[in-house]
Amino acid sequence: MSSSHAGPEPIAPASPQWRKDRWTLNQLSTAVWLFDIDQGRVVWANAAALDVWNAASLEELQSRDLKSDMSPAVSRRLQQYQADFISHGASFTEMWTLYPRGVPSPLNVRFSGAHLDDGRMAMLCEGRSEASLQPDTIRSADALLHTQMMISLHELDGRTLYSNPAARASFDSQQQDLSARFVHPADYERLMLEIRSQLEVSLIAEVLTASGQRWHELTVRSCHDPVSGRPSVLVSSTDVTELKEAEALAHTRAHHDPLTGLPNRLAMPALFASLVKQADLKGAHLGVLFIDLDQFKAINDTLGHLQGDGVLMEVARRLFELRMQDDAVIRLGGDEFLFVAMESRDEPGRIASLASRILERLAFPVHGERRKLMVTPSVGIARYPEHGRDAELLMQRADLAMYEAKAAGRNQYRLYDETMRNRRDEEMELLAELREALRRGQIEPYYQPRYAPHARRMVAVEALARWNHPERGMISPADFIPLAEKSGLINQLGTSILEQAVRQRCEWQRRGIDVAVSVNVSLRQLCDADFAPMVERILTCYGCEPGRLELEVTETLLIESNPVVHANLQSVRSLGIRIAIDDFGTGYSNLARLNEMAVDCIKIDRSLIQGLPRNDEILRLVIAMCKFMQVTIVAEGVETQAIADWAFRNGCQELQGFYYSRPLPPADTEILLTACNVASDRMLTLESVA
Ligand code: C2E
Ligand code: CA
Ligand code: CA
Repeated sequence: MSSSHAGPEPIAPASPQWRKDRWTLNQLSTAVWLFDIDQGRVVWANAAALDVWNAASLEELQSRDLKSDMSPAVSRRLQQYQADFISHGASFTEMWTLYPRGVPSPLNVRFSGAHLDDGRMAMLCEGRSEASLQPDTIRSADALLHTQMMISLHELDGRTLYSNPAARASFDSQQQDLSARFVHPADYERLMLEIRSQLEVSLIAEVLTASGQRWHELTVRSCHDPVSGRPSVLVSSTDVTELKEAEALAHTRAHHDPLTGLPNRLAMPALFASLVKQADLKGAHLGVLFIDLDQFKAINDTLGHLQGDGVLMEVARRLFELRMQDDAVIRLGGDEFLFVAMESRDEPGRIASLASRILERLAFPVHGERRKLMVTPSVGIARYPEHGRDAELLMQRADLAMYEAKAAGRNQYRLYDETMRNRRDEEMELLAELREALRRGQIEPYYQPRYAPHARRMVAVEALARWNHPERGMISPADFIPLAEKSGLINQLGTSILEQAVRQRCEWQRRGIDVAVSVNVSLRQLCDADFAPMVERILTCYGCEPGRLELEVTETLLIESNPVVHANLQSVRSLGIRIAIDDFGTGYSNLARLNEMAVDCIKIDRSLIQGLPRNDEILRLVIAMCKFMQVTIVAEGVETQAIADWAFRNGCQELQGFYYSRPLPPADTEILLTACNVASDRMLTLESVA
């Protein structure tokens, strides 16, 4: 099959010339007919054509409405032919199978354009019967005509030798060259290069079609032109635009955070790679800023997830506003964001000033039902290329720096340095050891007594965790409690201390020493729904009277607590266990809330007590408030006789501090307690009794 491009020969059916020609045409063995594409009717046919069409007469053939059972594909193709006749006088030779009265009749037909009287473009058809052809040849030729697959044959220089109807319909009929199809010339060049060394090459490329820019999947095979025998390429393509679009959408969805609309963690590698490329080109630096919101959990817990989501969206918006053209803002997940910023040579210091601006812009109050919460960020920065060239590593280092910013009191930024890595390594090591120590029972409580001046005796002891490390010696809780809290080990640790303290109290009681024990409880423990049942199990196990156990919780905890925390506190309190507010006076005090919470005891923080006599007035005020709430008042950190006297005179019912005793191991505590219980009129220390 081939197509040639001779100009159309206008035929005017009514002219005298035509009448003569008609006689001649009727003598031909070739079937000739003129087809009105628009009307779908045969205008004229010679005798051979009437045979082919199995028509009784010309009038009968003319009366047939060929449009009525024409498939849409054939109809589209005919319109395409019509356009090709008009635009460049094309002619085609194709294998067609006609179905006059339903009987298939394979024909080799040459089509060309012919104008009708009224000027419309019709189609002149010259058909030769191909009855001698093998059925498979006929079928394959027919399939090629009807397939939706676009098939075309090209010379090695891209020149088009043949296009099947689908290819002709898709590509501009003027398009005489394969290269003209491609939106990106590089795709064509690659294809032609690869086909030199391979038999078949496939690719998905953007192409220009009659219906605009589309995605096609092309398969190119090297072959020979069956007419000339010259090497050529056979191209088959299918439209995969919809697939491609679905894929692009899925990609966008997978790489974006639905809440904030920002790119997510998955998008990070590609974004980073493109920023690195630009930075290298410009000789610029990049700042990877790891941003974590302080106390976001408190917002989620107290104000609910809806408010939490609102805060995240607002944070995302504000970060996005600070973005310059070459920056990227990513939501890593939860309350973690990443800001990758370009610092070009002509703006040194941009990264640091951006970090300041982030702190400024992100500090905003969130209004809840009961109170205002402050959202502040902690920011850690790692720089490309100084701190690494790889996105993962830079993120890790920025994370480390962020973590230091948090440890330094939050709402600030830190630039990564090597020592941070060492500190983190040490911490990881310590954490592993802590886990091991817990397993081996190497974390034990020491006890610090609480002295009641009016009764002149030690009425209670506070259990304070101690880690007796085989190599490092005694490790202070200030060094391992925060680590335990962060790693989640605090639940296990807290339970262990509670259990040991309750057991100790019961042992002492059996030996005639009746003392209350007070145990520190952290927020994470109270967030565990199993906390209250666990406490109850321990009390029952040792037969401990609930009123002799006190749990110390911090004030901030009560204010920012979630429903689980409240339920736990209610449950333990309903068991008869006392609740003490620890470190009172260090945070924001919300008296209304404290009153509502119904606590039994308030421990005034040692920083306030040790500020005496400077703090005299404040302390009096604090004590007055505590009295108003009708709670037991404990002064912590009493180190001198003078302070002890002041505290007693001013209404603190119990005093705790080094003046009475440091926290002691159980045996020493027992010696002290026994001595005090016997000689309750004297002030005793361990040194004086030992
Ligand atoms: P805290 O609950 O405020 O405990 C009182 C701390 O003050 C203890 O420090 C104690 O040794 C110290 N202290 C007592 N009297 C004086 C004094 O007169 N002067 C001075 N300068 N300090 C005094 P320690 O034992 O190092 O504990 C530190 C913190 O670790 C505790 O503060 C508490 O918050 C936490 N902690 C200790 N054990 C536990 C525990 O089992 N669970 C939990 N969640 N936290 C614990
Ligand atoms: Ca305490
Ligand atoms: Ca305290």
